[in-house]
This record gives sequence, C-alpha cells and structure tokens, in this order.
Amino acid sequence: MKILSVNAGSSSLKFTLIELPSREVLISGLFEKIGMEGSCYTIKYNGEKTTKEASLPDHSVAVTKLMDELIENKVINSLEEIDGVGHRILHGGDEFTESILLNEDILKRIEKYNELGPLHNPANIMGVRAFMKVLPNVKNVGVFDTTFHQTMKETEYLYPVPYEWYEKYGIRKYGFHGTSHRFIYKTISEYLKRDDLKVISCHIGNGGSLCAIDSGRVVDTSMGFTPLAGIMMGTRSGDIDPSIIPFIMKKTGKTADEIINDLNKKSGLLGVSGISSDNRDIEEACEQGNERAILANKMYAQKIANYIAMYNNLLNGADVITLTAGLGENSKGMRKMICERIASLGVKIDDAKNDFRGEFRLITKDDSKIPVYVIPTNEELMIALDTMELIS
Ligand code: ADP
Repeated sequence: MKILSVNAGSSSLKFTLIELPSREVLISGLFEKIGMEGSCYTIKYNGEKTTKEASLPDHSVAVTKLMDELIENKVINSLEEIDGVGHRILHGGDEFTESILLNEDILKRIEKYNELGPLHNPANIMGVRAFMKVLPNVKNVGVFDTTFHQTMKETEYLYPVPYEWYEKYGIRKYGFHGTSHRFIYKTISEYLKRDDLKVISCHIGNGGSLCAIDSGRVVDTSMGFTPLAGIMMGTRSGDIDPSIIPFIMKKTGKTADEIINDLNKKSGLLGVSGISSDNRDIEEACEQGNERAILANKMYAQKIANYIAMYNNLLNGADVITLTAGLGENSKGMRKMICERIASLGVKIDDAKNDFRGEFRLITKDDSKIPVYVIPTNEELMIALDTMELIS
C-alpha cells in the first residue's frame, strides 16, 4: 500500500510517499514559495536530491506537479496506485480526539478551530482541498497535533483563570507535537514490549515540548493554549510571567501582537544568546567562550530538566525518558547537560553510549534509575500508519 504523508503550509507543501507495511520511503520532497515568485520544488529520490523551478500559483498546481513527478520517475504507474493521503493538521480543538477520514463536512468542522491555529490550520485545510481536487477518488485522512493530548484531565488542561474564559472562549491547554509524542510512545512500548509504560517524552528541536504519558494516555504536556508555552525553544520564550507583556508595551510603545511576535520569534536561544536560534551555532559559540551563548545553553538544558522533574512527580516515577527531534537526536552535548541536571532522579548518563547521532539507542548506565533513550521521531510515518488504518 502506498500512502502519501503531507504537511501543507501557507506557501509550502512537504510530502513523503511511504510503502506500507514495509515502511519504505519511496520518494519525498518539498514544494516552496507556492503562490509567490521564485517557486520551486525539491525531490529526494534514489538517494539523489534535485531542485527544479516551476510556476506554482496555488497548492493544486503543486499537487498536479507532484503527481507528474511520481509518474515520470516511475514511482507509480498511475494515480490509482496512491491508496490514501494523510494530512498533518495542527488544531482539532477539543472536538477531535482521534485521526479522522476527511470530507467537506469534517473540513468545515475543523475550520472552526482556525482562530486557535491561524498560521497553520487554514493552510493545512487548503492542502487537503488541493488533494481532493486533483485526486477526487483517493481518501484523505486528517492527523492532528492536538488529539493525543485530549486525554489530559481538567486538573492539567485548565488554567487557574476565571472559569468562564474556558466556557466562553475555550481557554485551556491543548498541547502540540502530539503525533511525534505518540510515535515515540508507540516505538518505546513496542521495543520494551510493555503497554503500561510511564514515559517522559522530550521533543526538542527548533520548537520543543515535553509530554508525560502513562500507558499510552497523555497526563500532561508543556505546550499550552498555543505552542508558545512550556520549555525555552529556538526562538520562543516558553513560560514567562504574563505581566511582562503590558510592562514592555508601556516601555516600548509596542502592541500586544508585536510583543507576542517577539516572544515567538525573537526569544529563546536566539533572544538570550543574541547570536542564533540554531543550536549548532550556539554550541560553536560556547566552544569559543561566548558568555551569552553559554548562558542560553545552560538555561535551555535547565528548563527541560525542570519539566522532567515535574513530570516524574506527576507520573509518580517515570519508567523511561526519551529524547527526540533536532537536538534530542543529534546533540550529545545537550543530552549530557540535561541528564546531569536530573541526577537527583537517579539518572546516570554513559558518555561512551551517548557518543552518536540520529539513532535509536540507550544512553544511560545499567544502574541508572530511569533509562534514557534517544529515539528518532517520524511524524510522517505515524501519519501514514493512521491513514492506512482509517482507509482499510
Ligand atoms: P524543527 O522544529 O524545525 O523541526 P528540528 O527538529 O529539525 O526543528 O531541530 C532543529 C534544531 O536541531 C536546531 O537547533 C539544530 O541546531 C539542532 N541540530 C540539528 N543537528 C544538530 C547537530 N548535529 N548537533 C547539534 N544540534 C543539532
């Protein structure tokens, strides 16, 4: 079975064609600058990466181009060979608790949550409609970032604010990166052959969130009403005192939206270091002794460690801690810094085992009270697996 896993942005479309059940990636790529000048697409196929310029006035043209490429490269012989398309959708509010087969009625229901994810949801839905137009006979499935977190209880998802904010405006914690955290839980529970695991899943990339999971159900997660909350990230502040916002508004004359933009795009590693949001640049600057980079690096590790300790308490003792995404998978330095800061939980990192990038491995000593695993995430595969299940 061939399933396309798709992530549509406002001007982009990322895709991976996956063969199931073998999980083989047949072809992948990215369409960029859709609806803009200089549009192009990159395709990774047979170990080669090629970029081509193309006029892409809208997402439907990009999807048509994609189908032409699949046929030209002989990945498929006809469009009938595409069994289903799975779409990443950011926000399903508190209505969608599982992935779902899409039709126009469902899309209209998802659109109700556009104001909760204004940068992503309209684009995600536009992507679905483009596939419905070009491939009218193929089934589409929506896989939400939020659904996995819908098992949180009121005690975790409510904010201690006037209750009517929740009743009238839906102010609550939704959580994000759910597809990644779900994939990580599935992978570790299959590997350890246990479905009753208490896991602290740390997704630390440019964006980052932690998730406390008990027996496959989310107990709590660090992102909140929006992805701005939780740990410090590449450019996002994570948790701060909200009183800072009106204070800086008065000091600078900026609007609330401008300050939220600063908290989303100019804070985190970038804001503290003044150098970059990219951890590789920060690590390089740390090696050269740059004090602000060293400070940013230490703060980053500490915020994650603090959340791990909190979730260990919430879970009444975690069985496993997992690290994934850009930093979790690749930065042995950050992994070590985090583990050192949770030594009080009995975590003992093994430097020799930690010396690698991008693989599934255990990085702690045999007598570590909680084992820490690095697990490469694979949201595309999770989307494809859900799609296979729902169309079968
Ligand atoms: P996104 O949230 O955009 O998907 P990623 O999960 O790709 O982000 O993570 C990007 C982050 O991972 C960047 O800060 C990058 O510096 C970091 N990263 C990637 N590779 C390495 C590496 N080899 N060493 C250290 N950090 C890395």
